[in-house]
Amino acid sequence: MYPSPKILIVGGVAGGASAATRARRMNEKARIIMLEKDAHVSFANCGLPYHLGGVIQDRAKLLVAKPEMFKQRFNIEVRVRHEALAIDRAKKTVRIRDHVAGNDYDESYDKLILAPGAAPLIPDVPGVRAQGVHSLRNIEDMDRILARLPSVKKVAVVGAGFIGLEVAEQLRERGLDVTLIEKIGQVLPPLDGEMAEPLRRELLRHGIRLISGAGFSAIREVAGTATGVILENGVTVDADLVILGLGVRPYNQLAVAAGLAVGPTGGILTDGYQRTDDPDIYAVGDAAEYLLGTTGQRGRIPLAGIANRTGRLVGEHAATGKSARAPAAWGTAIIKVFGLGAGIAGDSLKSALKRGLPARAVHITANHHAGYYPGAKSLTLKLVYEAGTGRILGAQAVGAAGIDKRLDVIASFLHFGGTVRDLAQVDLAYAPPFGSAKDPLHMAAFAAMNDLDGIAPVLPPDVDLSGYQVVDLRDADECAELRLIGADHARNIPLNTLRARLGELDPSRRTAVLCHSGLRAHVGTRLLRENGFDACNVSGAAYVRDLALRRPTDIPPAATAGGTVKACGAPGALATDSHDELHPLNVMTEAGAGALLLDVRSPAEFRSGRVQGAVNLPLEDVTDLNVRALLAGNDQKTVLLLCASGGRARTAAKRLAASGLKTLVVQGGTNACSQAGLPIDKDAGGAISVERQVRIAAGTLVFGGVLLGAYVDPAFYGLSGFIGAGLIFAGVTDWCGMGLLLARAPWNR
Ligand code: FAD
Repeated sequence: MYPSPKILIVGGVAGGASAATRARRMNEKARIIMLEKDAHVSFANCGLPYHLGGVIQDRAKLLVAKPEMFKQRFNIEVRVRHEALAIDRAKKTVRIRDHVAGNDYDESYDKLILAPGAAPLIPDVPGVRAQGVHSLRNIEDMDRILARLPSVKKVAVVGAGFIGLEVAEQLRERGLDVTLIEKIGQVLPPLDGEMAEPLRRELLRHGIRLISGAGFSAIREVAGTATGVILENGVTVDADLVILGLGVRPYNQLAVAAGLAVGPTGGILTDGYQRTDDPDIYAVGDAAEYLLGTTGQRGRIPLAGIANRTGRLVGEHAATGKSARAPAAWGTAIIKVFGLGAGIAGDSLKSALKRGLPARAVHITANHHAGYYPGAKSLTLKLVYEAGTGRILGAQAVGAAGIDKRLDVIASFLHFGGTVRDLAQVDLAYAPPFGSAKDPLHMAAFAAMNDLDGIAPVLPPDVDLSGYQVVDLRDADECAELRLIGADHARNIPLNTLRARLGELDPSRRTAVLCHSGLRAHVGTRLLRENGFDACNVSGAAYVRDLALRRPTDIPPAATAGGTVKACGAPGALATDSHDELHPLNVMTEAGAGALLLDVRSPAEFRSGRVQGAVNLPLEDVTDLNVRALLAGNDQKTVLLLCASGGRARTAAKRLAASGLKTLVVQGGTNACSQAGLPIDKDAGGAISVERQVRIAAGTLVFGGVLLGAYVDPAFYGLSGFIGAGLIFAGVTDWCGMGLLLARAPWNR
């Protein structure tokens, strides 16, 4: 048959178009025909949400290649609006409907590639066919939604998977009132709960209403038009646009009708070269099954990367009779939700445990590049590995930057079967703008090795701590700021005092050690273990424990049953402790980019020294309204919150969490900014700090006493020393309010 096979391809987007062009590049003599039932081929499905939101403004940019280009450049015959109806395997023909001409015809093939994709899941519930109920799969779907948007105010997105989240984010960015309904009590179900929690908080922070743990049972419609979503508990969410993002089901009808086998997850069953059980028919993309790296079984991965790569392989195989084997698919996936990204490669802990693997996990929270280099953002990485062997099973990451790189490295390790010990040694590129000399990946690998080797064993972040002696190594203000959940009996011993205070602890008890994000806890755990304690780290420490155990804004849908939904994200109901922080070295960059520098200390402190350009709004006056007034209508600006050392700024951030304003707490406050060399302004005529007042007053008196001693009477020497020392003592200790009195002295005004 080779060298000039006739290759017929069903489906003209990710898998189909990749197969067609590779086939041509490998065989100039082949005849290649690509069928597409809709109007467009080779369009960017993944870009559709971003055109809805206006990020991709030019619709034409979504149309990556047109039929004419396929013809001119590749000599590929593209037939749009031509739908494959049936396969006759004996005759090796496909029955095709030409939707333009309105007739059916047969086309023969030597090799047939099935890449028909998948269809959105539309549950058979009342009202689901009403006007205003949409799913998003292709350009036509997108155009229909866009046409409706001008008359839409309220949107309900059902399903908080990848597509649901992207659509919800983008429609919110357009200023619409968006309610996101998710059934299982967490967004982004492939992730472990605590790793998805920052996304949930990010959605709420941006004013998306989130209804957790509620399935939908019907669409409410009036005269055939959707007016809301009815939940299983009877609550109705008002909406004039409903987007269903409930997942996809593979287009397997053609294959099934032709007697081809379907695999365990409903996709077309394939072998190592993506051949179906008919060697002349291949299947790729969302319709097909792949070898799954996680399970070693065949299953579906409805993602673009694997569709494109296997499309390329089968194009080559169909055109030449040989190709590399299709690789295992690991389901590496990533998403952006407002200012955060999150993603996964391989197994989550829950999926690994569900399959009975002896899986363990560590969490690392670290900067995405060197903390001292401007722009460092925090990310949390969860590494899942096999007990005993240390084989990497998967990873998840969430953060404002740098998560793609970490996930991609883990995807490579999964591909090659690497262990945490390999990861600890991998030679990653490093310079301060890009990473850290010990990258978060290394830190995660170190933590995993310490766990495996019993050097610092880890407990899961949601561990029941009631049976443990709990040591909290944070400073007192950190403890006040983020309460340790389920550990009121924790003993607070800041790390630097631990060695001296070991006697306060009982070495015979199992001991759980925590700090804010895990670094200090590791040091403390080692110190305790070296001193004979059976001490373990709580993975991810207080920060991840909070993500794992606290759903601060959850209002169970049952609580509102029968009424109008007061959803979790509704203003006023929102109270989250999560806030982003900014290193002092980045303050001027952010301020230069237009951020508002808001100093929440008292006016006196403010006058005594403030970061250049800061404005003062004392903590007691920090309200949504007051901050908006300072922003003067420019609510998109970032608000940098400063106090002396960070505590009050964090309180302010919490207070503003529900406002939808973007806030960043400056780490270490004005003190750290001053140490970092940032320009500090002082009021010449303003109040001076108490200590300084005292020094000035005491100095003045002592100087006067010395003059009097020299020119009038030596007895004044002793008196001046006595008065000076007394004033210093009184002022510094603020004895009898003397410090304040001196501060108010006329010479200090
Ligand atoms: P498709 O790309 O869907 O192409 C199949 C084509 O076959 C369709 O155009 C269909 O009309 C046509 N067809 C079906 N039946 C017939 C027939 N009988 N005859 C002729 N033609 C037929 N994946 C990621 O990895 N990252 C992302 O960020 C991402 N974002 C996405 C966002 C959205 C909104 C959507 C919808 C998907 C997204 N995906 C993403 C998934 C990704 O687009 C798919 O996994 C990928 O397109 C699958 O490729 P495919 O070739 O199997 O199917």
